[in-house]
Amino acid sequence: MSAPPTRLEIVAPLSGILVPLDTVPDPVFAQKMVGDGVSLDPTSGELLSPVAGTVTQLHRAHHALTITTDQGIEVLLHIGIDTVELKGEGFTPKVSEGEHVEIGQLLISFDVDGVARKARSLLTQILIANVERVARFVPASGQAVAGKSVVLTLELAETAAPVETASGSAQTGEAISLPNPSGLHARPAAVLAAEAKKFKSDIRLLSGSAEANAKSVVAIMGLATKQGDVIHVKASGPDAAEAIRELSALLAAGCGEQPGEAPTTAPAAPVRAIAASADELVGVSASPGLAVGRIAHFRHEAIDVVEQGENPARERAKLDAALHDARGQIELLKCQLADPAKAQILAAHQELLEDPDLVDLAIAGLGQGKSAGFAWRAAFSQYAKQLESLDNALLRERGNDIRDVGRRVLALLSGIKQAQIVVPEGTILIAEELTPSDTASLDPKRVLGFCTTTGGATSHVAILARSLGIPAICGIDEAVLALGDGTQVVLDGTRGVLQCKPSETEVEAALERVVRQAAKRQEELADASAPAITTDGHHVEVVANVRNAQDAVDGVANGGEGVGLLRSEFLFDDRETAPDEDEQTAAYSAVAKALGPDRPLVVRTLDVGGDKPLPYLPLPREDNPFLGLRGIRVSLDQPQMFRTQLRAILRTAPLAKLHIMFPMIATLDELREAKAILAEEVGAMAIDASKIQVGVMIEVPSAAVMAEQFAREADFFSIGSNDLTQYTLAMDRGHPKLAKKADGLNPAVLKMVELTCAGARQHGKWVGVCGGMASDAIAVPVLIGLGVDELSVSVPAIPAIKALVRRLSLADCQALAQEVLQMSTAGEVRERLTAFAE
Ligand code: PEP
Ligand code: MG
Repeated sequence: MSAPPTRLEIVAPLSGILVPLDTVPDPVFAQKMVGDGVSLDPTSGELLSPVAGTVTQLHRAHHALTITTDQGIEVLLHIGIDTVELKGEGFTPKVSEGEHVEIGQLLISFDVDGVARKARSLLTQILIANVERVARFVPASGQAVAGKSVVLTLELAETAAPVETASGSAQTGEAISLPNPSGLHARPAAVLAAEAKKFKSDIRLLSGSAEANAKSVVAIMGLATKQGDVIHVKASGPDAAEAIRELSALLAAGCGEQPGEAPTTAPAAPVRAIAASADELVGVSASPGLAVGRIAHFRHEAIDVVEQGENPARERAKLDAALHDARGQIELLKCQLADPAKAQILAAHQELLEDPDLVDLAIAGLGQGKSAGFAWRAAFSQYAKQLESLDNALLRERGNDIRDVGRRVLALLSGIKQAQIVVPEGTILIAEELTPSDTASLDPKRVLGFCTTTGGATSHVAILARSLGIPAICGIDEAVLALGDGTQVVLDGTRGVLQCKPSETEVEAALERVVRQAAKRQEELADASAPAITTDGHHVEVVANVRNAQDAVDGVANGGEGVGLLRSEFLFDDRETAPDEDEQTAAYSAVAKALGPDRPLVVRTLDVGGDKPLPYLPLPREDNPFLGLRGIRVSLDQPQMFRTQLRAILRTAPLAKLHIMFPMIATLDELREAKAILAEEVGAMAIDASKIQVGVMIEVPSAAVMAEQFAREADFFSIGSNDLTQYTLAMDRGHPKLAKKADGLNPAVLKMVELTCAGARQHGKWVGVCGGMASDAIAVPVLIGLGVDELSVSVPAIPAIKALVRRLSLADCQALAQEVLQMSTAGEVRERLTAFAE
């Protein structure tokens, strides 16, 4: 009899928000090549031990380490993405290899802001490196508190019978000089271990006198190699010679990392937030866009206040009046903001004015005979300082908000008009710090862009800049403060780079780009509400891909003629339990109301499972999650959850031109089963079924091939080109090495689109595309030519796609489609479509 599985709980090493591993913007982690687990977006800078065990590996760059528990489970912690490139800067280890640690013990402290500025991401991975020791991973979601919350629960596998040691004498390969600039850190180690596991032989890496199991990421990292180190591959077993040959070649080629890809010794490699050259200053991209203008510096004026007050009652009255007036001023500013969501930032400022602790602190000062101004300044300064001293970047940012509100009230108490930022037209504003109010009151006609030496992408200043459409860089090199007023500069908010000494040609080129981009965007936006009709009179419906009601509002404002894909799973993500029927009804109804009764709303039923697990869904671990319980298969496996969702969707029917579609349908049986359940719910609710269209997502080749049969039983098709590409080409849509080849313009995928359209046409049904191809200007002509009737695109892309359709003729698109269908490779198709677009 087998022993019951043992559980192991992994505790949060940092505070922050948990995110699924597959959303980490680094394929090696997202693909679980280093290990399985969870990722965390940290708000604290002290990495605590998530388990008790021994530090078996601490990377030389101090950004990653492994704790091995007494049961032998290897818990690998990796702070940030590409942080190996910082070579230890900003990280202070508090333990050393071989040391035993307890849960909650401090392992590494790091400078959250500094690392955030310089690294690609702060997302911290909590991984089990020896996944074979785990039967089931249950990652948590939501907010985690360091040292307290459980972020991952493991059901341990029964210990496997000892593997037969490979027989035969060991062979050793030739010496390889490591090309990797940062040695074999997590990424190359994961690539190497994955390859090594394909061989039966026992394989070791030899580095000097050290030796590591080549199938273990942790052991490889533990070798602490660096560029130029000499490595040998040693193997014994049936495929030893082949293993040595292949792994040696892989090592020599950099294990998927180009030599110089990770900037270290290469002198030309720029590191973010450091002046890349005297002519360029680099910071954090806070708001995208390009601007050419002249520098104007801005500094807050100091406000003087007298210390002694007249009497506490009079001073209290002055304070109350100033607080009241400040609320009124903020209200006015709120009305000037176009985006109501961003006005919430200022609403939060109004709440701060009513914060009882803050106001009580000021009143206590009045009781000691201080003036209203003096007591108020002391109170908000103390309050802001408290927040700014916290080990939490987000709360520190809020310190800026308090100083902002505080200064506003202080100015009112002193009778000083707050320094308005008055600058000439064509200004690039430079400041050490801007408050949210400063930012909200910027005039985009005069201020073309701004840079601050403080703040980051999460600051309210950055959010407001994006809402105002002003390109901005935060956390820029302080050298910016030394640039003279009137200096001409080019600000690239998208890249976070300020060009300080652009040549005349560079200025001209940038200006041309600014003008071109702006004119094009303006034109497209101005025409956004007009239908997308080709030059020969063919209407293509352009609709939006949305997650919620706000997206739907934005979609309509950008000219969307409806919603072609409501990704309902966003309502199910990131929570402990499934949303109930009422909550779902409220969410779907809000989207329906944003569209009104005449615009189509296509709701996709829950599309999760396999690679997108939900914490509260008891689904088994699968070897091939993309081929397992995913999409409609989960709904059919969990009929109660499916029925709840269908009822919630059906309850919005009176508000909308409702369409329901099922994801990842592979067989007619699946469609029939889903439709039968839907029919039962429709019947029970006495709804007029003829008003609701029921569609199938075409994401699997079997559905495309059988489109004619499906079209007999479905009202419409919507092609999920992202999945259709991965399933047609058998290439994982997120695989790091296959990304370029997994191309939707491969003629094989285009043939699937053609089959789908042909099948639909035979029964007079319509076809949409809601995958990424629909938002790709290169692909749109061929999709239209193949017979696609509706394009469901990302909200910001709507005006441009509509404008593009208006420039095309259906006849040309049809000829083009026939031409590319004859081609042999995606490369040939791309080349032809690029030429067509020019
Ligand atoms: C698709 O696969 O193209 C699609 C739209 O679905 P998702 O990207 O959500 O899987
Ligand atoms: Mg899909």
